[in-house]
Amino acid sequence: MELTEEQQKKLQEKLKNLSPEQMQELIKQQCIFCKIISGEIPAKKVLETNNTIAFLDINPANPGHVIVVPKAHHQILPQIPDSEILDLFNSVKKIASAAFEAVDAKGVNILQNNGPAAGQEVPHVHVHVIPRFDEDNFSFTWEPKKLKEEQFDEIQKRILSKIPSSMEKIETALEEKGEVKPRLP
Ligand code: AMP
Repeated sequence: MELTEEQQKKLQEKLKNLSPEQMQELIKQQCIFCKIISGEIPAKKVLETNNTIAFLDINPANPGHVIVVPKAHHQILPQIPDSEILDLFNSVKKIASAAFEAVDAKGVNILQNNGPAAGQEVPHVHVHVIPRFDEDNFSFTWEPKKLKEEQFDEIQKRILSKIPSSMEKIETALEEKGEVKPRLP
């Protein structure tokens, strides 16, 4: 059923007036992975912990392809509190380990898409655990971008500047190699 123009206007007005908490609740109500977590829609679960669940991907890249998700709704990885990361990646590790025996995988790829530009379709953080087999006709290769040394240096500096905790350690090493100017005392 299509909404009339009048109904659409009213709806947009309502959405504009929602608090951030109400907006978050609305997003949760629409989220397919939140619905799997609450049991509202079925999924073939393979692991559950206090903070994560894992279930078979409905459109697997290979047999045994599993999706691991935090139970709390976060859209992309940088939004997950540090306290939830360990549980999430412990679960990823368990699923990856199980894949070697359960489906006789010869390797495993871990894939984690953030944002539409990266191919994220479901806006709830998730990690793909994809078992790999010899000649499974599946490829993660890319055409390398050609960057000059100065471009690598510039990118390194920009990333470092956003991670203060590692900046000092790495900058000291770069200073010792004479690749950046020593800092003022
Ligand atoms: P992404 O492109 O990283 O957002 O991947 C989302 C993944 O979720 C896709 O591989 C889908 O096949 C999978 N998916 C979507 N809906 C369901 C569902 N109801 N049950 C299991 N997997 C799903």
